[in-house]
Amino acid sequence: MSAKTYKNLIDGAWIESRSGQSYENLNPADTRDVVGIFQRSDQRDIADAVAAAARAFDRWRLVPAPRRAEIIYRAGELLLERKEEYARQMTQEMGKVLNEARGDVQESVDTAYYMAGEGRRQFGVTVPSELPNKFAMAVRMPIGVCGMISPWNFPMAIPSWKLFPALVCGNTCVIKPAEDTPLSTINLVKALMDAGLPKGVVNVVTGFGPEAGAPLVEQTNVRAVSFTGSSEVGRIVGEVAARSFKPCSLEMGGKNAIIILDDANLDLALEGVLWGAFGTTGQRCTAASRVIVQRGVYRQFADKLIYRAQKLKVGNGIDETVDMGPQVNQAQVETAQKYVDIGKNEGAKLELGGHRLKGPAYDNGWFFEPTVFTDVDPQMRIAQEEIFGPVTALIPCNDFDHAIEIANGVAYGLSSSVYTRDVNKAFKAMRDIYAGITYINAPTIGAEVHLPFGGTKATGNGHREGGLGAIDFYSQWKSIYVDFSDRLQRAQIDMGE
Ligand code: NAD
Repeated sequence: MSAKTYKNLIDGAWIESRSGQSYENLNPADTRDVVGIFQRSDQRDIADAVAAAARAFDRWRLVPAPRRAEIIYRAGELLLERKEEYARQMTQEMGKVLNEARGDVQESVDTAYYMAGEGRRQFGVTVPSELPNKFAMAVRMPIGVCGMISPWNFPMAIPSWKLFPALVCGNTCVIKPAEDTPLSTINLVKALMDAGLPKGVVNVVTGFGPEAGAPLVEQTNVRAVSFTGSSEVGRIVGEVAARSFKPCSLEMGGKNAIIILDDANLDLALEGVLWGAFGTTGQRCTAASRVIVQRGVYRQFADKLIYRAQKLKVGNGIDETVDMGPQVNQAQVETAQKYVDIGKNEGAKLELGGHRLKGPAYDNGWFFEPTVFTDVDPQMRIAQEEIFGPVTALIPCNDFDHAIEIANGVAYGLSSSVYTRDVNKAFKAMRDIYAGITYINAPTIGAEVHLPFGGTKATGNGHREGGLGAIDFYSQWKSIYVDFSDRLQRAQIDMGE
């Protein structure tokens, strides 16, 4: 059966790229399976999409926010109805196991419901004026056209974190999804269009980063940029956006640690590490790629982890009995392999895995073994750099303070976790870990959409997705003064006259 061709969405019409070029997107569990043919777009398609979004902004910004929210709510209802279909397509294009793909769609449903509520809640402020017969307030205003660039690991959830808050605030959007997962973004936007979103309000342009992503950041008519991806690309995006003073939200990499103290419930911690390190094949920005274990339970924990990790069933995520799917593409498998070699050369002990899987079930996909390094020194590269694969590093530590020092001793600051039964240590960890997210007695993954999501240092530039952080990013304050005194009043100067 020949693969279906998917087009860009510009001004409400599904159209081919201006160059006429397209690319095949392959199933990472079996690269003989072509998920679809997608447009390979360039700066001309981006320019068309931005022009359409700029035209649509003039109308969309005047639609009352509660009405905008109703469309988002309806999109959430449609996503729920279509969850199984969209989840299966997501597993096919991205590789994550079906249950996780369902969770990814569900996260976009949750975001739709939450952001729909924000349509009636975009609170501003009113304050007393310093002058008589004068009214003072500040209201949230939309920004204009927002350019969005997303990664492949949460192909529907992350675009929904960007699109829904931007829309409810009255902005229009051009989104460039990751080249490996365009279909899930197209599905998300189809739900929005079917829910009644007017043409041009959201535009989807597929293609590669330097060809289609870069021009989106450069476009003068794009007033704000939201990027999620690697710190390497985020730095380029941030620098380019800064040249034209565009607000720019960067959500980037992580090197997240789970700390397990001597007093922890080890079986609970074990479940958390298995999920945190190998869920989504370790390809989450919040993945637990470091496990810092106090020496009193270190060996016992390492043995438990290795025993359980080697039992994980790896395979095509569409099979409901599979625990861990493939990596998303060849480059990711090569990165995992590269870091295994680096770890071995650095002197870390490879106690489990470390190879690409071979055999009839694996040879056509990008499968890598669940991999555990032990006796890792915190300064080794495998303990410092993001791997984004099913590879985790066990690092022994002496005590609580030592654990916090190791946890904070990396360039990133996204997620963190502590397993302890000591409430004092739990509260100190919440205070002292320099990261955007801290879990107590739960793994590093599992964010909920109504709380701010993002991180410190090389993970982010201070903005947050999710929760009110998103409303803050996609709106700008306007201060308004209404003078009903019928005379010229001069602020500051008139004081005390
Ligand atoms: P990536 O940086 O390679 O690509 C991200 C997006 O940027 C893609 O759409 C890509 O096409 C685009 N892009 C690439 N070069 C570009 C350029 N020069 N100009 C503009 N756009 C360009 O990242 P990825 O491999 O898709 O995703 C994995 C990374 O994303 C990991 O580092 C992970 O930690 C991070 N991530 C972070 C979060 C978070 O919220 N902090 C969430 C998920 C993923």
